[in-house]
Formats: sequence, C-alpha cells, structure tokens
Amino acid sequence: MAQLYDTLIIGAGIAGCCSAYALQQKGQKVLLLDRSSVPASGGSGAAGAFVSPKIGKGSPLQSLTTEAFHFSKAFYLRHFPDYFDQTGVVRIPKDEADAQKFATYEPHNNASYQRLSASELSQFGIRESEESFYFEEAGVCDAPALCEAILKQVPHAQHTVEGLVYEAGVWVVGEYRAKAVVLATGYQNQLVDMRYMGVKGTWGSRGDYYSRLALTVSMHKRISISANQEGVIKLGATHVKSPTPCQVCDGHPLKSLEEQASRMVDTRDFTLKETFCGMRAGSKDYFPLVGRVIDVAWMLEQYPTITRGAKPPLHYHPNLFVCNGVGGRGFVFAPWMAEELSELIVKQESVDPRVNPDRLFLKWCRKSTELVRE
Ligand SMILES: Cc1cc2nc3c(=O)[nH]c(=O)nc-3n(C[C@H](O)[C@H](O)[C@H](O)COP(=O)(O)OP(=O)(O)OC[C@H]3O[C@@H](n4cnc5c(N)ncnc54)[C@H](O)[C@@H]3O)c2cc1C
Repeated sequence: MAQLYDTLIIGAGIAGCCSAYALQQKGQKVLLLDRSSVPASGGSGAAGAFVSPKIGKGSPLQSLTTEAFHFSKAFYLRHFPDYFDQTGVVRIPKDEADAQKFATYEPHNNASYQRLSASELSQFGIRESEESFYFEEAGVCDAPALCEAILKQVPHAQHTVEGLVYEAGVWVVGEYRAKAVVLATGYQNQLVDMRYMGVKGTWGSRGDYYSRLALTVSMHKRISISANQEGVIKLGATHVKSPTPCQVCDGHPLKSLEEQASRMVDTRDFTLKETFCGMRAGSKDYFPLVGRVIDVAWMLEQYPTITRGAKPPLHYHPNLFVCNGVGGRGFVFAPWMAEELSELIVKQESVDPRVNPDRLFLKWCRKSTELVRE
C-alpha cells in the first residue's frame, strides 16, 4: 500500500511551496504535487514578485497586507536570502489626483519610508514629478528561483490531480494517500465546490529586459519596474480580469508595459530577454483564503433554509484546507499565510478571521444567483 503522508499540498506556486515548507518545519511528513515539473509554472512564475507594503488610508486589507509584508520580508531574509533582493521600492502616485491623497496615506504607512521629491527621484533615474514614498526595506524576489529553492527542501512530485476521494479516514489523490490535503491551486479551483470563495483570475504579463541602466531601486506606479539586477530589469502588471489565460493580449502582452515604462525611466537600451504571462487568483472580497473547506453540498442538503438567511453551524470536509486568493500580492502573503495554515493543521489553532474563508459562506448562500431558492 502507498505510504501515508500527513499532508498533501496540491499546487506548487508560492502559496503551496510556503505551505509545504511551513508544515515540514513543524514536523509533518508532506508531499507537494503539481501538474508541471517546472517550478512556479502558474501565476508565481510570471510575478515580478515585489514584496512591499500596501499604501492607502488604513483599510483592513492595507493593515493585513503590511502585517504580512513585515512577516514575509523577515522570512525571506532568514530562510531564503539569496532569492530576495532588498532593492527598496518607490511608490509613485498614479496621477495628480492620487498625488493629492498621498498626504492622507502617510500616517498609515506603518513601515520604514522616506518621501522623495521630483529631484530626488531623478537622482534614482526616475522621471516622475509627483512626490513619492520610498520603502527602503521592501524588495523583489526571484520568483521561479525562490520556488525552486523551496522545492529542493520539500518532497514533491509531478502529478495532475483530477479529483479527491476521502475513504476510511484518509484522502486518496491518485496513487497518494494523506491524512490532510491543502488546495493551493491558484485560479484553477474546480477540484472541490468552493464557489463561495469566489476565486477569479486576473491576467498579467511580465517582460525581462537586458539593460545597462543604473537603476538601483524598484518602483511601482500603474506597472512595476524592478531595479537592475545583474543586467536585467523586469516590467510587469496584472490588470485584466479573465477566465482563461493568454487570450486578451492579442499576441503583444508587453506593448502597454513598454509604453508606460518609457515614460518613467530611460528604456532606450532595453532588449527583450524573456516574456511571461500568468493568472493571479483573487477572492470575492480581495482578502486571502486560509482555512478549512466547508462541505457545500452537505450544508445545502441539511439546511435548505440557509439560502433564506438561516445560520446553522458550519460543517467541513474532514482535514481539507485551502491556501489561495493571494491576488496581486502572493509573495507578500504566502509565508504569513503558510504560518497561519500550519498552526491550524498541526496545532488546531484558529486562523485569523480576516483570512478564514468561512466569512464568505453564509452571504454566498443568501445572495448567490448560482443557487436555486425555494
Ligand atoms: C504578471 C504578474 C505580476 C505579479 N507581480 C506580483 C508582485 O510584484 N508581487 C506579488 O506578491 N505578487 C505578484 N503577482 C501575483 C502572484 O504571482 C500570485 O499572487 C501568486 O503567484 C499566486 O500564487 P499561487 O501559489 O496561489 O498560485 P500559482 O502560482 O498559480 O500556483 C498554482 C499551482 O497549482 C497547480 N495546479 C492547479 N491545478 C492543479 C491540479 N489539478 N493538479 C496539480 N497541480 C495543479 C498549477 O500548475 C500551479 O503551479 C503577479 C502576478 C502576475 C501574473
């Protein structure tokens, strides 16, 4: 009989890699499965992988993102310092109206920063006139190399998961058996009914360019431009909501990126090295999803009045967990989420309610047009 793992993690993007790593660190016998043998073949491989705080007026999502930023930055520096470059990240206002708001954002930065004037920006080689924030502790991960480095430390196998079966107290996934399963499949979210989480893909692209431009900091306006790292500068953005990847760019995924970048920095010597496209997965309310998976069919059958506002106790699939919905900040959230998830799985600690997917279930039952109401 096949050996029994403590936890199988499905999906070897940054969410699955960090989950497997955290569970193994806490003594679990894990196996990470992905349909591809190439590290970070999903959204994670396409990411510019900036790790920076969120700016804004102090919304709950901003607080959570900045909390996760501090945790994840420390995680990368401690465990994977070769794959996280603390270049600093300059946040540039999108336009004049946004620039007016920067003063109201300032009290909520909650991370070490400086204000940069237009002349200070120009010393960095940035052609922008609006005062910007410079977060010197922020930086950029080498996304595929980071995932590959994690995979070197965690047992993994290539396997396309077609379905999950729970029998005799064990999850059976193809030839593999485990006490628990974590779904970290990004925008592809059809293995179990998790419609209440509202995971949707947003398509994006990245171009890596050879350049000699002395760009020592990374920056984000509407697009991201990395610092020059060993002769390569990365341009990236994800903005197009799409159910399928690579159908929205008309064969020229980098055109708009190149135009925008040329207004921000001197791109005259940029020579395209490589193009990446990918989907990132966001939840219905843009907060990440970490926790147990509710047995939707069981709940609807046992409590049909749930669609009219009843609030019965929640019933979960046994030992089935999700780690997803990291949106445009997978590399900021993943290590923090993996810590939450591993505390839940190993120590039965409750997860932070801000990321617990339970928050979305009852509302989905009441409001979803996918459900037939009596
Ligand atoms: C152009 C671009 C730029 C970005 N820039 C940044 C940035 O600067 N900073 C940042 O933090 N984030 C950024 N992101 C977002 C970030 O990439 C995502 O949030 C993150 O990669 C999502 O990771 P994930 O592990 O959830 O999903 P993915 O990386 O998509 O991983 C899911 C994995 O699951 C596997 N899988 C799915 N279904 C199955 C199955 N049935 N069987 C086996 N395997 C399966 C897939 O093969 C895939 O490898 C960017 C994204 C893009 C596209």
